[in-house]
Amino acid sequence: MDLKIDFSGRAVHYTEDEIAAVVDAMRNAATLTQGRYLAEFESRFAAYQGVEQGSCHAVMNGTGALEMAAQLCAFKPGDEFVIPSHTFTSSAYPFIKHGGRPVWADIDPLTRVVTAESIARALTPATRVVVVVHLYGYVADMPAILDLCRQKNLVCIEDAAQAIGSELDGRKAGSFGDMAIFSFHSHKNLTTLGEGGMLYVADPALSSLVPMLRHNGHCAYAGDRPDYWKPAMGNVDLPMLGDAPVMPANYCIGEIECALGSVLLNRIDEINAQKRARAIRLIDALAGYQELEFHRVPTTRHNYHLLAARCEPGADYRDKFIRNMYERRGVKCVVQYLPLNRYDFYRKLGFGQANCPQADAFFDTMVSFPFQHWMSDRDFEYLIGAIEATLLELRNENAGDA
Ligand SMILES: *Cc1c(COP(=O)(O)O)cnc(C)c1O
Repeated sequence: MDLKIDFSGRAVHYTEDEIAAVVDAMRNAATLTQGRYLAEFESRFAAYQGVEQGSCHAVMNGTGALEMAAQLCAFKPGDEFVIPSHTFTSSAYPFIKHGGRPVWADIDPLTRVVTAESIARALTPATRVVVVVHLYGYVADMPAILDLCRQKNLVCIEDAAQAIGSELDGRKAGSFGDMAIFSFHSHKNLTTLGEGGMLYVADPALSSLVPMLRHNGHCAYAGDRPDYWKPAMGNVDLPMLGDAPVMPANYCIGEIECALGSVLLNRIDEINAQKRARAIRLIDALAGYQELEFHRVPTTRHNYHLLAARCEPGADYRDKFIRNMYERRGVKCVVQYLPLNRYDFYRKLGFGQANCPQADAFFDTMVSFPFQHWMSDRDFEYLIGAIEATLLELRNENAGDA
């Protein structure tokens, strides 16, 4: 088997300008962490998002941002959070680690994200927090979800790890909720050399705790000191949420990553638009095949971080399809997002129960196509042809069986 299109671990290639920005920061950064490139990246990110300056905090990865968001929830024993079962594991476990009990919400079968209705069905008197995941890069119906959260006095957190630049009603994914997180992992549409993340916290008082939480409780001493070295270089204080202490860690991101993140913000809309145009081209080219059901969104509501389809004939067909694509066409497709309640991790913690038939059905029949931004036009057209050839071959096999 000759692999022609891999499911790449890398989403984008860098331009010469982006590489130059990295080299420049390597040469000139005064410190390699917690310096001016961090401040600039956060400020430019807040401007891009259309949110208050000071509300965005760059961190080492999306999971680190989720850890801090979970800490800022200040869960009390018995508190629950609602989260889709159809997501990446780190959307959920930081909230468990910091004291929340997950209740799994189902997805909409067409959009593959949660809705206000599916969240409402998972609410109990113990619900404190709702985590919304804009999976694949598609923005969930935030106005309706926020209405529900405000009505029930729930904290709303957006996992926009996959949805940078996606918009709804002219607002960016990750600018609606009380908090939001972003990931700049190697797979994502914007990646800061493989790892990186951002935490957005709308409330200024909560947001002001983040620099201490992120950096070991480090902070400045209050007021002027006549001898700058006394009693020590800087203070270490205990961040407090009301009367509850919040333990810090080191979630810092390096200056080189931040320098790159700042310049990538100039190109992210273009990257998203190119991915979206390709997704629509592929979906339309295959519109005549009922076997594959895509989610077609020709607007900025979707950035097509990932391109996934449901195999309508069912799970057996899906497996034949992926095998044929791999063995006969050299194209590596994958299956993503085992509903979290079905993983040993969550079962062993006692969170194996869910009432999420749509998430289960989608997982059991889904296929995710290789969709890295840097795929050549030639490979992309090959991908479309390979899908068609596989669909036709499987039709013929079926006709032969009958
Ligand atoms: C990638 C991702 C994360 C975690 O981000 P990291 O930067 O890899 O820690 C969280 N949630 C979702 C939905 C993701 O896709």
